[in-house]
Amino acid sequence: MQDAPQVGELTPPNRTLMGPGPSDVDPRVLRAMSTPLVGHLDPSFIEVMDEVQDLLRYTFRTDNQWTIPVSGTGSAAMEAAIGNVVEPGDTMLVPTNGYFGGRMAEMARRAGGDVVHVDAPWGEPLSPADVADAFAEHQPDVFGFVHAETSTGVRQPDVSELTSIAHGHDALVVADSVTSIGGVELRVDEWGIDVAYAGPQKCLSCPPGASPLTLNDDAMDKVLSREEPARSWYLDLSLLEGYWGEERAYHHTAPITNVYALREALRLVAEEGIERRWQRHERMAGALKAGVEAMGLEMNAPDEYWLPSLNAVRVPAGVEDGQVISRLLDEYDLEIAGGLGDLSGEIFRIGCMGHSARPKNVTYLVNALGSVLEEEGADVDPAAGAAATAKKL
Ligand SMILES: *Cc1c(COP(=O)(O)O)cnc(C)c1O
Repeated sequence: MQDAPQVGELTPPNRTLMGPGPSDVDPRVLRAMSTPLVGHLDPSFIEVMDEVQDLLRYTFRTDNQWTIPVSGTGSAAMEAAIGNVVEPGDTMLVPTNGYFGGRMAEMARRAGGDVVHVDAPWGEPLSPADVADAFAEHQPDVFGFVHAETSTGVRQPDVSELTSIAHGHDALVVADSVTSIGGVELRVDEWGIDVAYAGPQKCLSCPPGASPLTLNDDAMDKVLSREEPARSWYLDLSLLEGYWGEERAYHHTAPITNVYALREALRLVAEEGIERRWQRHERMAGALKAGVEAMGLEMNAPDEYWLPSLNAVRVPAGVEDGQVISRLLDEYDLEIAGGLGDLSGEIFRIGCMGHSARPKNVTYLVNALGSVLEEEGADVDPAAGAAATAKKL
């Protein structure tokens, strides 16, 4: 037998999180996480569950009864959505314009679905005409799209147009709203989205662990009338109904602490007001964008589909992206990320989410980035960047 291992000395550093998530957590949420545990069927916890469900409906802009936090990260809510709605033999239409469309495809395949694609390059949104053509060609049962593509900094416009096309073909629409919920305008009911999943650690500024999911009656009818049960027992919504629905019976132990955290994060949303929160993200990210543009950098997405919560900034000539990212982390305790897939080495991904979308973070980011880029030999004017940001804040 081994001796007891050496106890490590490492204290996790205090970073400023301006990457693609997680974002900085509001101190109120961290305090909520030190609340003593109760049982997952304690009468007081049932009240908390009701409150979380109401707050989630408010934040998603939906009246869907079927609105719950899924135990796990955003990918768990994603797999709960796709793994329940897609039945073996169904066809699911997914986009090719970013990393998360690829993950949708993989989950749909594992659910027994056939996957077809609507094409758009990385860094571009889907065009309604292409979606209509793909529907005419493949007649899919389910259509998935990514509202806020964290890998490219693209916000999908024309959501109502896309959902109308799908409904004209009797298909259900699944929206990835992981990086839009609580940060950019998202209206589940008004836009005709049947199923939306999200994550807590992006614009809700909550640690990962319990992830929002909502389904309307059409989607839930399909789930409850499946011939074959969903392949995942843990994420089977017809079983989770027993815990989150009327009955409140045990299915699995809810991550109590994460539910407390999500509740506090959603209370912050309700106190601020959802529309004011969207506006704050736009204002803060607007100041960030003005700063990087004024210092001489270029945004990857044009203004029509710029995503305030995730700013994709072109890496300037002559610098190596990884070097800039490591220096920001080492010298400034500041996290940003590089590009993925087709945009690897070409963009910096700078988040402006939730508690990180505030003057202190934006000012710090623009100043630190300007300094490091200048030292790395890029042709930038850091002072002009800092001044443009200050003017907008
Ligand atoms: C982060 C993210 C996910 C996955 O969430 P995890 O919490 O990492 O599992 C899915 N879709 C998008 C658009 C994301 O940004």
